[in-house]
Amino acid sequence: MSFRTTTAAALALATTAAPAFADEVNVYSYRQPQLIQPLTDAFTKATGIEVNVAYLEKGMVERLLAEGDRSPADLILTVDISRLAAAVDAGVTQPVTSDTLIQNVPAQYRDPDNQWFGVTTRARIVYASKDRVADGELTSYEELATPEWEGRICTRSGTHPYTIALVSAMIHHHGEKAAKEWLEGVKANLARKPQGNDRAQVKAIWAGQCDVSLGNTYYMGEMLEDEEQAEWANSVRILFPEFENGGTHVNISGVAMTKAAPNRDNALKMMEYLTSPEAQEIYAAANYEYPIAPGTEPVALVNNWGSFTADDVNLMTLAGYSADALRLVEEVDFDG
Ligand code: FE
Repeated sequence: MSFRTTTAAALALATTAAPAFADEVNVYSYRQPQLIQPLTDAFTKATGIEVNVAYLEKGMVERLLAEGDRSPADLILTVDISRLAAAVDAGVTQPVTSDTLIQNVPAQYRDPDNQWFGVTTRARIVYASKDRVADGELTSYEELATPEWEGRICTRSGTHPYTIALVSAMIHHHGEKAAKEWLEGVKANLARKPQGNDRAQVKAIWAGQCDVSLGNTYYMGEMLEDEEQAEWANSVRILFPEFENGGTHVNISGVAMTKAAPNRDNALKMMEYLTSPEAQEIYAAANYEYPIAPGTEPVALVNNWGSFTADDVNLMTLAGYSADALRLVEEVDFDG
C-alpha cells in the first residue's frame, strides 16, 4: 500500500493498531500535509489533543474495510463527493449528531444522514481567454453545447470525477436525455480530444489551441504560484457559469467519522473544530477554496475572481447520479 507520513507518530499509526489514548485522534487523509498541518497544530494547541495523520494517496476505503473494527482511524479527510459517497457506501463511516456541525455546515454540503460534513468548496468553472472571449459571452453550462463554441473548448477526460459530478448535476437539472445531448454537443465543440489535467487546458488556451476550458477555481491560485504556469493563468479569466435553472456547480472537501473510531469524543471535537468558521478560513486559504460557514470569506485573491451563486442541490443527490453520468459519458464516447 502506498502512503506517505510526515511524523513518527503517523508512522506508528500506519503500522500498528495502537490502543486508544484519551488524548489523541487518528486521521486518514487524502489531502496534503501543507493543507492539514496548520489545522492540526491549531487544534492541538487549543485542546491538548494530539493528532496523528496518515497521508494516503489511494486505497483508503479498502484499508478501512481490511482493518474493520480494529482500525485506529477516527476520521477521514478527503475531497470530492465521489470519495465521500464511496466511503458511506462501503459502510466505513458512522453518522454524527452535533448541533455545532449543523450550524457550521449549510444543509447542501452535508450528508442528509449525517455521515459526512463539508469543510470547503471549490467551483467548477470556465477558464476563458482574455483575448478571444468577450465579457458576458458565456453565462451557462448549457451554452457550451451550442454551435457558437465549435472548435473552442478544451477539457479533461469525461470519466474524471470532476466531470462526472458536473454531468450528474446536468442530469439532476435537465434529465438524462438532455444531459446526453449536452455531452454530445460539448464533444462536437471540442478543439481536441479530452486529455491532461485542469491546468493543461489553461495552457492550451494560452497556446491558442482553444478559447475556453472547464476547471476548478483553486487551480487559478495554484498556477499563479508557479513561474511557468502564471503565464497561462494570466492569459485567462474565470467565468462562473450557472445552470439555466440553478447555480454554479461546486464540489467539496469534507470530513467523516469512521465506523471504528476508537477515540470518538476527540474525533467529534476535531470535526467541530474543522468546520468552525476560523478553521474553514485557514483551510480554504491554504488551497484557494471557499469556506462555507455563514459569515466566512475566502482570501482576497479568490474573492477577486468574482462572486457566484452556488447550486443548492445536495451533493449526495448528485452522487446518486454518478453511475448514470459515467454511462452517458461512455455512450457518447466523450473521450474518443
Ligand atoms: Fe484537483
